[in-house]
Amino acid sequence: DMSLSPRVNSVKPSKTVAISDQAAALALAGVPVIRLAAGEPDFDTPAVIAEAGINAIREGYTRYTPNAGTMELRKAICHKLKEENGLTYTPDQIVVSNGAKQSLVQAVLAVCSPGDEVIIPAPFWVSYPEMARLADATPVILPTQISNNFLLDPKHLQSRLTEKSRLLILCSPSNPTGSVYPKELLQEIAQIVAKHPRLLVVSDEIYEHIIYAPATHTSFASLPGMWDRTLTVNGFSKAFAMTGWRLGYIAGPKHFVSACGKLQSQFTSGASSISQKAGVAALGLGYAGGEAVATMVKAFRERRDFLVKSFREIDGIKISEPQGAFYLFADFSSYYGQEAEGFGKIEDSESLCRYLLDKAQVALVPGSAFGDDSCIRISYAESLTTLQAAVERIKKALAPLH
Ligand code: PLP
Repeated sequence: DMSLSPRVNSVKPSKTVAISDQAAALALAGVPVIRLAAGEPDFDTPAVIAEAGINAIREGYTRYTPNAGTMELRKAICHKLKEENGLTYTPDQIVVSNGAKQSLVQAVLAVCSPGDEVIIPAPFWVSYPEMARLADATPVILPTQISNNFLLDPKHLQSRLTEKSRLLILCSPSNPTGSVYPKELLQEIAQIVAKHPRLLVVSDEIYEHIIYAPATHTSFASLPGMWDRTLTVNGFSKAFAMTGWRLGYIAGPKHFVSACGKLQSQFTSGASSISQKAGVAALGLGYAGGEAVATMVKAFRERRDFLVKSFREIDGIKISEPQGAFYLFADFSSYYGQEAEGFGKIEDSESLCRYLLDKAQVALVPGSAFGDDSCIRISYAESLTTLQAAVERIKKALAPLH
């Protein structure tokens, strides 16, 4: 009997992971692909952080830790949340996991009942709707417009809330759009949340440090009345270039966070002891990750500026300037419907990405993966030289189309 559980059948595999894997396979086969599909900084983990991990191994710090994370790391996280985000938590209100992805899925599983609605503004990070489905909840997708910088319209949110609405998932700075929610807009959203006592907010703040002034980050839980209603998720992967260390966390009211910890105790137990030592060192770098993080953010900003300028010059592409993260989410829909010689018709974001992989050997992710088929996501976690080459290749591949 080859049947699989209905739960598995209801979930789509991650398209970003699939495309990254496909591009990696092409690269292995010797095709000179430029890979701008992955959501991963191109930098090495800062040396002090890596050394802390190495020392942990040398010192035999290689055993199980408490399920919720070491007291040392949870205290450091509380300190960070206080200093940087104006949020007061105690260590028993924190659960450390094997990446923010795990923190998120546990949060969704911990609070949603079958049939509950999970409100997700689109474009969204690929995993949110699938996490809702895993919990037998219903993802409710709220589209946003590029002309409004892909920000959620509070009136739209208000009009879609019902007594079944259990979770609203916010992500700022956003993957895939790079949009940053201004404080005033979050305040408007908070006023709506306040009127719906069943509704909780998961605030995914994993890109918080990768932000370009004058944009600033506001933690949703810091808004009046929202501490009780918010589960704040953050992690180490993006800001500290620690994707492979697998370390993230959730902070929130103990009632909910303990439920996340209960699930974790049966799924995976505590995160890697070595990674947690490295996490303590990362938070020890000082406010917003100090110099080490500032250097990476400066490089991301230069790349953002280069891509924004380059894509503004290409006919038929619309963009909204990203204020954070390391993605450009550009509207290529004016190319849809065109015939490409030796390829066929470009129908949608997926066929355009296939065309660009074929013709330009640049790997990008179709917007359909993020709930917006008019766009394509370009990750700029690559060197400026690589990005320059990619832009040239894309221009050349698009030229015969318009
Ligand atoms: N949230 C968002 C928006 C992301 O883009 C990612 C990584 O791609 C994650 C969460 C998960 O990060 P990790 O599990 O590596 O901590």
